[in-house]
Amino acid sequence: MQDRKEYQREYHKKWAKENKEKLAKYNKTYWREYYDKNKEVILKKAKKYAQENRELLNKIAREYYKKNKEKSSVRSKTRDAVKKGLLIKKDCRICGNKESEIHHQDYNNYLDIIWLCRKCHLNLHREIRAYSKQTPTK
Ligand SMILES: [Zn+2]
Ligand SMILES: [Zn+2]
Repeated sequence: MQDRKEYQREYHKKWAKENKEKLAKYNKTYWREYYDKNKEVILKKAKKYAQENRELLNKIAREYYKKNKEKSSVRSKTRDAVKKGLLIKKDCRICGNKESEIHHQDYNNYLDIIWLCRKCHLNLHREIRAYSKQTPTK
């Protein structure tokens, strides 16, 4: 009885492994074939889209880059302030978890932050996103 169970378990493991590889291989070749067959159409479409929307794409890329650069410099200023003791690390403002991280309330002021744990932080950003969808600012 014991042997049989053992055998079944081994068999199942082997089966799962073999099929996983097969499936992964299949997926790879599927997309490869799809791409090879439709390469010209795909590339043409992408090129056309990029040409028609060049300004828009450039603008998005520029703004994204600018925003990210500004944000990361604000983040490093804040980190410095924590190191210098200008900002004191606190527990999560929402649930009191000691493992807290910084949330910037205003990226124009690197000292305007609150401490939140990972979970509350993610929740907050989810809410902010939902809220800004409801009331578009632009
Ligand atoms: Zn929390
Ligand atoms: Zn945040």
